[in-house]
This record gives sequence, structure tokens and C-alpha cells, in this order.
Amino acid sequence: MTKVYDLIAIGGGSGGLSAAERAAKYGAKCAVIEAGKLGGTCVNLGCVPKKIMWYGASIAHMLEDAPAYGFAVKREGFDWGTLITERNRYVTNINNWYHTYLADSNIDEITGYAHFVDDHTLEVDGERYQANHIVIAPGSYAVVPEIEGADLGITSDGFFGLSEQPRRVAVVGSGYIAVELAGMLNAVGTEVTMFLRGEHLLRKFDPMLRESLMDEMLEDGVNIISSSQIDRIERADDGTLNLHCRANGQVQAGFDQLIWAIGRNPSSTQLGLENTGITKDAQGYIKVDEFQNTQVSGVYALGDVTDAPQLTPVAIAAARRLSDRLFGGMLDRRLDYSLVPSVVFSHPPIATVGLTEDEARATHGEAVKVYQTRFTPMYHAFTKRQSKVAMKLVCVGAQEKIVGCHVIGFGADEMLQGFAVAIRMGATKKDFDDTIAIHPTGSEELVTMR
Ligand SMILES: Cc1cc2nc3c(=O)[nH]c(=O)nc-3n(C[C@H](O)[C@H](O)[C@H](O)COP(=O)(O)OP(=O)(O)OC[C@H]3O[C@@H](n4cnc5c(N)ncnc54)[C@H](O)[C@@H]3O)c2cc1C
Repeated sequence: MTKVYDLIAIGGGSGGLSAAERAAKYGAKCAVIEAGKLGGTCVNLGCVPKKIMWYGASIAHMLEDAPAYGFAVKREGFDWGTLITERNRYVTNINNWYHTYLADSNIDEITGYAHFVDDHTLEVDGERYQANHIVIAPGSYAVVPEIEGADLGITSDGFFGLSEQPRRVAVVGSGYIAVELAGMLNAVGTEVTMFLRGEHLLRKFDPMLRESLMDEMLEDGVNIISSSQIDRIERADDGTLNLHCRANGQVQAGFDQLIWAIGRNPSSTQLGLENTGITKDAQGYIKVDEFQNTQVSGVYALGDVTDAPQLTPVAIAAARRLSDRLFGGMLDRRLDYSLVPSVVFSHPPIATVGLTEDEARATHGEAVKVYQTRFTPMYHAFTKRQSKVAMKLVCVGAQEKIVGCHVIGFGADEMLQGFAVAIRMGATKKDFDDTIAIHPTGSEELVTMR
């Protein structure tokens, strides 16, 4: 017999859980279908385990800095196993909490892989389910290139499964996941080589950020090989991996792990969408309008499976707004996708919101004015390890409305959230100037720039 709900979410990750949670608060009868682990990518294979590794790597850096502050400590030994065990325990606790939370919220948990059999019917392991509202939130997966030997490498999923610290790693890719994994491995003592297809890290970010990060990572000992097109991987007799690069005919040898971080594709191919009127774009993203509606009435998509910024808070915000609209009577409620702030947990971290300088100039031309600064943070005043902070405000028009804010360096990760609120509210450079600085901090530079 077909079971019927008010709302079913496909995917128990950031988006699906949030849609069901919010709908249930309005009294809707909801179910979440999850094929893997509750919490999705963010909790199990993304933000959460990644941030824990980043903290570990940051401690490694602080231990290097400690003698300058008078501590007689040496960086001696690092037990990968301890960090991984604690990290996994923390993640498992979150998983367990979700099971309880769903039960307490009167949301049914359906375990298995969902696919559509028609516009409004889903099947999971032979059981059929229908709902007035179906939210598609199956996320995305890491891309592996179609070249010989590609399966000898791992993706970020495999990185979180490593029980031993790799000695020598090749990270292929230049996006935020590539720089985060490379940075944290390097900080804990793994020898890291990054292979970039183009010239730059973080291609879509403001040039100040990507150039500063490149300098910092090179200074920190990461090898970066640009313009490299890898076309074959082979395992050598000693068990290590050789990377063959087409462009220069070179072979880079001796890696005990290769991590593919070349992008993510939407998980839209196994959903049975061909049995529905739902359509996808050329990259496989499910097409939605500004209210997350697909082409089929009563079916919505959000999160990484749509062409939205692939970030947890974006999926959560879209989901909550959708349920507010469907069950909370807020008929115009939808997510405004402009001014999405984000942090890259590189070493040092990057925080960014709004337009890059290039984007602003392309849209606003001569009306753009940029304020920029670069300095040594007080923390590094006398440490052996040096790292700079760089900041940029991108302003537009006579009022100097701030349309972009970009920071790299110590504390950037915790600095931007409040500024993002101000920028969303339409802050101008004068508003920043009129704000009393908090001294001594790095963030005060954002309100004292000349
Ligand atoms: C390494 C890494 C680091 C990241 N770091 C950050 C970060 O620091 N900050 C940030 O904001 N974002 C980060 N992200 C991105 C973030 O994890 C995603 O944007 C977010 O999880 C997307 O949410 P979602 O609900 O769309 O999909 P997901 O959270 O991926 O959830 C989708 C769920 O659907 C399930 N599923 C798929 N198909 C089906 C099906 N047919 N039936 C049933 N279940 C199905 C999957 O098993 C999965 O659990 C990171 C991602 C990665 C990979």
C-alpha cells in the first residue's frame, strides 16, 4: 500500500532535514528518505570532519609559534589515529542525535534509495510513497576524471576514511576543497604537491585572495605545479603512484595517495527523473525557479543538486524558506541568493562576501572604488613562522556602497559574519568609517581603511 505524507524529502542532508524539520514545526506529517548517513555530506564527509582536521592543523602551526611566546615546547610527533578517532566519535554522536531528533519531531525516517516512478510517487526498496510536496535534496558527489588509473586515487570522501597519515600526497584541483585538504595535510607534516590545470588557486575568487593564498602556501612548503594536465596514473613496483602529465611529458612519482578535488556533480542521475516532467540543465543540475519549484507542481529541488552555491547554510536557508512558504502561509518567502558569505578553511583562512573587484568593474565600471590593506597581524609580530593578513573592500558609486569584502589571514574565518550582516543591510564605506574600532584586533582594519 502507498504511504502518503504532507512532505517527503529525498536526502537526509542539510537541505532535506531542514525542509522536513521546518514543515513538521507547522504540523505537517513528514518523512525523510536517506540512502546513507543522516546529516549528509556536511556532517559525515564535509564541513564537520573537515573543520576538526583544520583545528588539528592550526594547532600544529601554533606549536611552531609557541617558543616565541616563551613556551618550551617542540613539535614532536603527531598521532593521526588519535585525531581521527576523536573526529569520528564526534560525527557519530551527531548522527545518533539526528535519529533521536527526527523521532522526537514526529518525522518518519525511511532508509534506502528513492527514485520517482511518476511525478508524485517515489519508490524505496519496493515500497511506494506519495506526498503533496516532494523536496529533492540528494546533494552532489566528487568527480573523478575518466583517465587510465584514476581509480587509484581517492576523493575527499576517501580522505576522511584514511586511517593512517599519508607520507606524500598529490592533490589534484584548485578549488576550495583542494586548498583545504592540501593545507591541513601540509600543516601536520605530510609532503603535499598540488596539481593545478590552470595558473591559479581558487579561480573564481578575488585576485588578492588567490595570489595571497598561493604565496602563503608556497611559503608554508606546499609544492604547487600549475598548468598540469594529468592523463594517466600508474602504480609503481614499490606501491607508490606515478602521475603522467601530458603537456610536458613529465612523470611525477612516489605518492602514497592521490586526492582528486576537481569538482562535484549533482546527484541527479539515479532519481528516476526520466519518469517525471522534471528537467535538468546541461551539467545535470535540476532546474528550479526562484521559489525552488521544478517543472512539476508540488515537487521542489534545493541544495547541491541545483545550480546554487554549494554550501550548507545555502541548502538550509532554501529549505526553511520553502517550508515557510508551503506550510507557514508566507507566500513570497524564498531565498535571495545574492551576497552569500563563505569561508575557505585554508591555512591561512579566507572569508569573502559579494562581488570580486573584477566582477564589480565588469558591472559598474568607473564607479568602483577599492580599499585594500596588507599587514602582519600582531600575533605574528615576533613568531618565526610569518603569515600576512590582506583585506579588500569593493565599493560602488558616490555613496561608496560596499558590494564586496574579502579577507585572508589570521582570524578571517570568525571575522566576516557580522560584516556580512552590515553589507546585506546596504552598508557604505562611511558606515564602516563611523563604526568604532575594536582594538587591538585584525578586524578593526576593516573600519579604518584609507
Ligand atoms: C569536503 C567538503 C567540505 C565542505 N565544507 C563545507 C564548509 O566548510 N561549509 C559549507 O557551508 N559547506 C561545505 N561543504 C558543502 C556542503 O557539505 C554541501 O553544500 C551541503 O551538504 C549540501 O546539502 P544538500 O542537502 O544539498 O546535500 P547533502 O548534504 O549532500 O545531502 C544529500 C543526502 O542525500 C542522500 N541521497 C542522495 N541520493 C539519494 C536518494 N536517491 N535517496 C535517498 N537519499 C539520497 C545522500 O546520501 C546524502 O546524505 C563541503 C563539502 C565537501 C565535500
